[in-house]
Amino acid sequence: AKKDGRRRARTFNPSMLHVLEQREVLRRSLRVALQHREFFIEYQPLVDRSLAIAGFEALLRWRHPILGVISPITFIPMAESDGLMSEIGQWVLEEACRQASTWPAHYTLAVNLSPAEFLTPGLTDRVSQTLDVVGLPSERLELEITETVLLERTINNLDTLNTLNVLGIQISLDDFGTEYSSLSYLKNFPFDNIKIDKYFINDLPDDQKSQTIVRFVIAMAHGLGMRVTAEGVETAEQAAWLQAEGCDRLQGYFLSPPLGADMVDEFIGKHAD
Ligand code: C2E
Ligand code: CA
Ligand code: CA
Repeated sequence: AKKDGRRRARTFNPSMLHVLEQREVLRRSLRVALQHREFFIEYQPLVDRSLAIAGFEALLRWRHPILGVISPITFIPMAESDGLMSEIGQWVLEEACRQASTWPAHYTLAVNLSPAEFLTPGLTDRVSQTLDVVGLPSERLELEITETVLLERTINNLDTLNTLNVLGIQISLDDFGTEYSSLSYLKNFPFDNIKIDKYFINDLPDDQKSQTIVRFVIAMAHGLGMRVTAEGVETAEQAAWLQAEGCDRLQGYFLSPPLGADMVDEFIGKHAD
């Protein structure tokens, strides 16, 4: 009987139930988070090869009244499956553009677009309207998309990317190399920038395979007229290696973690040339 009890305890794992309940609670409170102003944005600096600030990437956070700050990795998939992501994404775009309009005029703003946001009809109109309303020049906005977005509806995707391109907005291919990497995307879509995923940066500068892959991506991108950003640069050695290899921009904890809007102003004050 004792043995049975133990087996039962393993089957009906109470902590698992707790996790499921918590996800339901999260899901429900996500629906009202926008009205309750629980979202906020952090901005992570990107620097150029001479380590001067090139711009910032907007990263969304959710301050849940009870559970505290929740990672976008947890709640964005929920928002996507509940059809809330394009509304939340519109808030991010507007809020981040408003912040960026207060920065020095040569800094860019990068905003992430999830697949659902990218595929929402009218995206290009909404983006250009937002830029107009806020008064941010389109050249200062970069939209980051992942390869998943490009898997479906290729003709519409190409239309959307071309329209953004014509508007002067920059397009970055995020997390490069981690998803269904197909080089055909690079031939068919007008990217301005490739972001090499942290996975390939982690073991630099010593790991031979990482070196080979990163060198190859940099050469390929430059050959195609695209810029390269390394994500997740955590050490001075990684930064030095990437600089020497001609990587155009660096981003990561070595330079700075994502910062609250007020800390950004302080960061700019300290690092401005
Ligand atoms: P991402 O676009 O690849 O963003 C980079 C992530 O790496 C961020 O995590 C950032 O905080 C983290 N990071 C930056 N430097 C380092 C480093 O040196 N080491 C390590 N270990 N991590 C570093 P975060 O902020 O948790 O965001 C996770 C993901 O959530 C993002 O990945 C992006 O896909 C998504 N996301 C964030 N904000 C938004 C948003 O406004 N809209 C959409 N659609 N997605 C967003
Ligand atoms: Ca990104
Ligand atoms: Ca990324």
